[in-house]
Amino acid sequence: MPSYRDFHRRSIEDPEAFWREEAKRIHWETPFDTVLDRSNPPFARWFVGGRTNLCHNAVDRHLADRPQQNALIYVSTETGIERRYTYTELHAEINRMAAVMRSLGVKRGDRVLIYLPMIPEAVFAMLACARLGAIHSVVFGGFAAPNLAARIDDAQPVLIVTADAGARGGKVIDYTPLVDEALARATHKPPHVLLIDRQLAPERLNASYLIDYEPLREQFFDAHVPCEWLESNEPSYVLYTSGTTGRPKGVQRDVGGYAVALAASMKYIFEGRPGDTMFTASDIGWVVGHSYIIYAPLLAGLTTVMYEGTPVRPDGGVWWRLVEHHRINLMFTAPTAIRVLKKQDPALLKQSDLSSLRTLFLAGEPLDEPTASWIGDALGKPIVDNYWQTETGWPMLAIQRGVEVLPPKLGSPGVPVYGYDLTLLNEDTGEPCAPGEKGVITLGYPLPPGCMATVWHDDARFIDTYWSSVPNQHVYSTFDWGVQDEDGYVTILGRTDDVINIAGHRLGTREIEEALSSHTAVAEVAVVGVADALKGQVALAFVVLRDAGGYATDEARRTLETDLVKTVDRQLGAIARPARVHVVAILPKTRSGKLLRRAIAALAEGREPGDLPTIEDPAALQQVREALDTQRS
Ligand code: ATP
Ligand code: MG
Repeated sequence: MPSYRDFHRRSIEDPEAFWREEAKRIHWETPFDTVLDRSNPPFARWFVGGRTNLCHNAVDRHLADRPQQNALIYVSTETGIERRYTYTELHAEINRMAAVMRSLGVKRGDRVLIYLPMIPEAVFAMLACARLGAIHSVVFGGFAAPNLAARIDDAQPVLIVTADAGARGGKVIDYTPLVDEALARATHKPPHVLLIDRQLAPERLNASYLIDYEPLREQFFDAHVPCEWLESNEPSYVLYTSGTTGRPKGVQRDVGGYAVALAASMKYIFEGRPGDTMFTASDIGWVVGHSYIIYAPLLAGLTTVMYEGTPVRPDGGVWWRLVEHHRINLMFTAPTAIRVLKKQDPALLKQSDLSSLRTLFLAGEPLDEPTASWIGDALGKPIVDNYWQTETGWPMLAIQRGVEVLPPKLGSPGVPVYGYDLTLLNEDTGEPCAPGEKGVITLGYPLPPGCMATVWHDDARFIDTYWSSVPNQHVYSTFDWGVQDEDGYVTILGRTDDVINIAGHRLGTREIEEALSSHTAVAEVAVVGVADALKGQVALAFVVLRDAGGYATDEARRTLETDLVKTVDRQLGAIARPARVHVVAILPKTRSGKLLRRAIAALAEGREPGDLPTIEDPAALQQVREALDTQRS
């Protein structure tokens, strides 16, 4: 194996040769004629002319070597149900689902909107679409009717697949009334709605348009549906971004490039070997779920664990018991989940045998140093922070342990991943940043395989949004702000929208958050910049305390606030000092666990935050409002 540096350099200097080699990881029914078509930048077409199929590569291909190996282990702590599907069984279920879809008229190129909770049928439905060459668009099951309606109108599906209900934290959420309302709101009217009846909803809507899946599944029990061989660049799916910073963008992904990129990532980043078991605690509604609950582990012949439930029910040891019970080798989740677990009794972690676990992967939000150290020490295994976006489909920054085991640096997700020509640029001049200089994280053309091909039916938005924001440069902007050190390690400092300008000094919200979270009293923190007549902007901090009871009196709070401000002074200098530190019980976050800093900033500036369709708990905004009111009074 070459060193990381050589490996990365080769992938950038000669992407054709690099990816031609990696393309051997998947089956091509017809070989491609061209590795990369760069005739129409910023669009890039990978493996042009090659024909393949994601479902074939994820499932059918393994029937010869591992027919009896578990492909999917399903665990729901909400319903108490646990199911296992071997590759043979998974193949059969996908064929049934594909036959049912076909009987409802679904064909190559059609969109199928999947609005399902974490149940095995969601995997069957996604892979059935892949089999048929239909384009799936999974909408996170927690979204309300207006979000669903907007996605129905944008994706124009011929079929919606839904369930009677989802469940979270012991609460049942009826889906059918939401679908009904969304259909009433949407302009586009999909001809069919297929219903997976879990018999969970006490009052399942009895609408005549809902088609029960179960009798159809029986009817097509022995069906075999051949895979459609798709040209590598045909769309495989459309997935909308989380909507943290505004109107979600429909990310369109290809077939061949995605398969190759994920298969390679399983070797070089995740080190997943055939027969391993991987547990990705995310949701199929997010990109991490698409790539690392479903496609990548199956493409690489692993067993994937799909989990419905929270990390703390029935108690905070539930995930660790899963690791022991299923001999899980690789685990992947978000820092938010680890912060939740950090508040639990540490003994829970020690009660399970975690010897099978090799690595814990974390992505989705900045991994703060205290959380990284806590989980690293508690597990005694490598923690691999990895940075990416719905748009890229797989990591852009990570320690690529399958290439070279570089030492991790706390607070940084590591170095640029092979294939990504990642550079930090000054947003005002477009000039490359020197080491230590802050700038926007950009990617050069072409994006590697597996990244977004375009915005669904909106090429202009793809160019305008992503490729036109840095002056004097035709580069892809991540809209994240960061800093790179001499060794190439990048630290994410926040979103470019969240950069604060205090008296001419530019600071990422992340820097101040990181300083505050190093204080032992702090469990979570959000920092926002708000307009200030004198300084241009000032920072306001909102903290959630680890033990709020310990700071019940006004005096204790004041002392704590002074102490927190001093912590920032010490680490970043007085310039970064927050104007106020507010204590709240919860912070406003998206359903995928990302902080809604813009909403907090709006409230702080006396504006309404506007529509926040993806907010997890609106009560969190009320907390912010009340904290600000006490400040004003
Ligand atoms: P939208 O683009 O609609 O506002 P979003 O950016 O929240 O939504 P995602 O694609 O789910 O949607 O999130 C990607 C973003 O999450 C990244 O751009 C980055 O800001 C953040 N992120 C992801 N992984 C990491 C990480 N390891 N460290 C720091 N930030 C991360
Ligand atoms: Mg984004």
